[in-house]
Parts: sequence; structure tokens; C-alpha cells
Amino acid sequence: MKLRIILFALAFISFNSPLWAQFTLPAMPYAYDALEPAIDSMTMRIHHQRHHQAYVNGLNEALAGQGNISLEELMKNMSKYSDKARNNGGGHYNHSLFWTVLTPVQNTQPSPRLLQAIQASYGSLDSLKKLMNQAALGRFGSGWVWLSVGENKKLMVSSTPNQDNPLMDVVPQAQRGTPVLGIDVWEHAYYLKYQNKRGEYLGNIWSVINWNEVSKRYESLVPKGKFDDWPAIKEFHKVMSETFHSAEEGNLDPIRKLSKVMVERAVTLSKSVIPSEFDKKEVKAAIADLVKESKKLDDLVQKKAKDADITAKLTQLHDIFHKIVGLCSEEH
Ligand code: MN
Repeated sequence: MKLRIILFALAFISFNSPLWAQFTLPAMPYAYDALEPAIDSMTMRIHHQRHHQAYVNGLNEALAGQGNISLEELMKNMSKYSDKARNNGGGHYNHSLFWTVLTPVQNTQPSPRLLQAIQASYGSLDSLKKLMNQAALGRFGSGWVWLSVGENKKLMVSSTPNQDNPLMDVVPQAQRGTPVLGIDVWEHAYYLKYQNKRGEYLGNIWSVINWNEVSKRYESLVPKGKFDDWPAIKEFHKVMSETFHSAEEGNLDPIRKLSKVMVERAVTLSKSVIPSEFDKKEVKAAIADLVKESKKLDDLVQKKAKDADITAKLTQLHDIFHKIVGLCSEEH
């Protein structure tokens, strides 16, 4: 009987006092010296054991007695919480992410899907790095620079002050998203080795960025597109959208310029490996039509045919293309 009372009392005390901590410091996924020479051992140790621990402690204090909430939910509802919760909650979230997007493995690379998205938004990986470094150098005082996935599923570069991050509802709407990569630009992240040379720290950190982890986060946020395994149809779609919509508005310059490209892409499509889920004889027949009709369209363009004839043929090709897409969407 006495034992039961003691156990009950212990449980009561532990759930209602700071002894019970909702948030804890995550273990480092590698040794403190593993990122040398890009980031030195002493910096990593102090950064994790003291700075990050202080954010964890501060967050537990700030939320004491307010029940359980996940870190992600806290970020999304930050406006309802204290500045102490904002600074320390951000600090805990940001650093937990930071450790995982660094790795002792030198020069990992983005996955093909992430690289494609980077190229689509920034031209190249180098341009993205340059843009993020500029944002980091432009951050006055302490803060972070982020690569995030925005609500439109597109990549986005931003910088936040202090321990804010793009998940927080206190951040301007246009800068909100889910971070896939965060770089700490507080002096405590680099001062021991680099002193005031933030640019040098930024130059070196890219060698230890964990692109495998960043890619994993990106791919879990951006579901695979239906035609991602069939680039030939995406390429055909590009030339169709570059020409058809202008033609609808009476501008035939794009199709007059690109009719040969359209033939080439139709031929490439007809020779491409059709993903098994779309591999049907109706699809193959429609692609054969696309090749045949795109050649006729190119003939019309070469003969400098009337606008109306070219537009009619292009419209027919557009219909065939959509027939293919439709066939690929049918249940089977
Ligand atoms: Mn930090």
C-alpha cells in the first residue's frame, strides 16, 4: 500500500515539475571531430553540448505546464506562444535539422530528382550555393539561411533572423515553407575557427553538406510526378506548350521556329521505353499518329502554308497528345 502511494506521488511530481522534460537533446549522428577541417571539433562540441542543450532547456521551461505539443506543431502555431518559446523552440528545431544535413562523407550529391528541381529553379547547383551564400552574407547579425519547399512544391531560398525558421507562422507568408536544408550563420557556428570570416565558413561548409539527407527530405515533400520515369513525353509536352498556346492567340512564330524540334521529339518519344503502366497498344498507336502528323505539320511550315492550315494541324497534334495523356490516366 505504502509503495503504491510512493509510486503515485513520484509519477505526479515527475509530470508536474521541470524534472519531466518534453524535449531532449538529440545524439549527434557522428563524432565532434568528424567534420574537420570544414568545422572544427571544439566548435561542434560547444555548439551541441552547450548551445543546443540551452535551447532544449529553455524550450522545456517555456512550455512547462502547457501540455504536449510536437515541435512541428509548435512552429506552425508560434504566434500563440511566448518569445522564449519562439527563440528556444526555433533553436531546438533548427539545430536538430542542422546536425542531420551535415556529414563526414565529403562532397555528396543531390539525387537526380532534387538536382532536376534545383536546375529548374536556379540553373545549377553552383548558382544555388552562390544564392544561399549571398543570403547568408546579407543576414545582419545572427540567423539562418534556408532551402525550403514552398506551398507550391517549388524550391525556395530564404534567410531568417535569430532562431526563426520558414515553418513558423510569424514568418512572412511569402517566406514560409518546409526546410530541407538549413545553414547556421550565428557566430557560435564558426567563430573559433573562422573568427569574423563568415564567407570562408560558408565556402567550406558545402563540402560536408549531406545531400543524401536533403534529397530524402525533398523527395518526401514532393511526390513523384506521373511521368517522371518517362522524360520523352515531358520533352514533347514542353515543345507543345511552347507552341500551341501562342498559336491559339494567333502567334505562329514559335511553331514556325520549332516544327522540326516537334518532329524530333515525337520520333524520340516513339523510340522511348514506355513505362509498363502506360504500355498499351492504344498508346503506341497514338504515338505513331503523333510522329506522322508532326511530319505533316513540319511540311506545312516548310511550304510556308497559310496560318489557318498550320493552326489546324497543330490543334490536331495537341488533341493527339492529350489523347495519349488521357490513355495513361485510365484505370487498368
Ligand atoms: Mn547554432
